Amino acid sequence: MPGTYTLPEITITGFSILNSVGLGCQNLPEDVKEVKWMLNNISVELGGAARTLNDEDGFARGPDFDKLVNAIKVFQLRHFKGQFTPDGQVQPNRATFRKLQELQGRRATGQQGDGIKVQPDTPIGGPCDTFGFSLARLDKTKPGPAGDWDRINPALPPVQMVPLGGTRTLNFLASSMVNGTLELESISDLKISNTNIAEIVSVSDGNVVVKGTCPGRTTLTARDSRRRTLDVALDVRRLLSFKVDVYHLGAPRVRGALDMLANKIVFGLNSVYNSQANMMFTPGPNRVVVPSITIGGTARHVSADSRIVVHDPGEPFAIPRTPNDIVIQSSHLFALRRDALNLSVFVHERILSSKNLHHGGESWIGSRTSWFRILPDIAAINAASLLSHEAGHSLGLQHVTTPNNAGFLMHPNLPGNNIIIPAETLADLPGG
Ligand SMILES: [Zn+2]
Repeated sequence: MPGTYTLPEITITGFSILNSVGLGCQNLPEDVKEVKWMLNNISVELGGAARTLNDEDGFARGPDFDKLVNAIKVFQLRHFKGQFTPDGQVQPNRATFRKLQELQGRRATGQQGDGIKVQPDTPIGGPCDTFGFSLARLDKTKPGPAGDWDRINPALPPVQMVPLGGTRTLNFLASSMVNGTLELESISDLKISNTNIAEIVSVSDGNVVVKGTCPGRTTLTARDSRRRTLDVALDVRRLLSFKVDVYHLGAPRVRGALDMLANKIVFGLNSVYNSQANMMFTPGPNRVVVPSITIGGTARHVSADSRIVVHDPGEPFAIPRTPNDIVIQSSHLFALRRDALNLSVFVHERILSSKNLHHGGESWIGSRTSWFRILPDIAAINAASLLSHEAGHSLGLQHVTTPNNAGFLMHPNLPGNNIIIPAETLADLPGG
């Protein structure tokens, strides 16, 4: 239902720095972040850094800072060639800064998207939100399910996950520089290319509510009063439901602990995957499994005191061995599963990877099977990050190794509380 919707005329003043940023400059942390953010917001064609700078820290040294200085020089070379030698410095209200201001929000893939921005209704301060919206523009050098999301492709559209039968809100903002002032344009037209897949439910003040009506992909195109357009890919996903079978290797120390743990795991998975992937998890019947392993003709049972080392043939054994280690292979765990279609999670307080002493868990891509090490104190387990990461691999998700991946669930090292799943990566999951 395309139509005409008018935004109120307002003027945005924004983007300022207090002091100089760059080579040999003052470099106040907030100023450094601001300049990185502005460069990230400008496409490569216009001399910008196109989201390749880590704009979450404001450090004035280190490799991230060197990249910033280089990006400033590239930007200066693009716009001031023949006027001055690029010095890698941005001064408040001088030519470089004014040019950065002027180009905010423009994309230079032809006339496409020039001046129109889209943002989620609940921004989290990054390129993605927890409702499946992504501005990350992630792509794979090696296409297909095997490759990591290892590059940013500025030509790709933003992506919004829309649950089948549910809605999502996108916030559009169109602006132009008029006599040195940034002014808002009105979004005059909105169109969905395949209205069988999604439809527009309502529009007000640039907030567009879309509803998923059939699983699949379609494009929402926004046009402003200057006839500039921006495409947003809509990925409508049906609800997928998985049972989670939690297997405790060896008897747990505390009665009832297994059910508590399983509930925590299911809650953690739902908090990450419900809104971002339209996936739901329910507890299966949990089980204590006590594998016995025959070593030299003697059967040994896994107990809570055993150290279980997961080691597959051909993999390095890079951790120090102890005589009481019980070494198992992934195939042993696979053989213990009740149902290979369910998500199988193996836990133990002393389970380890032979590859690295510090790996808290492991998974085999697409196998729906993972293990992770639980703490004796179940309340302290963060099921939303580590477990959801391993479960993600076991469902097919690959790592995101691009810059600016802080906060992403599939960050290879999980530096913090990582829960964001950029919508383009949902293509790795079942139903994608
Ligand atoms: Zn991983």
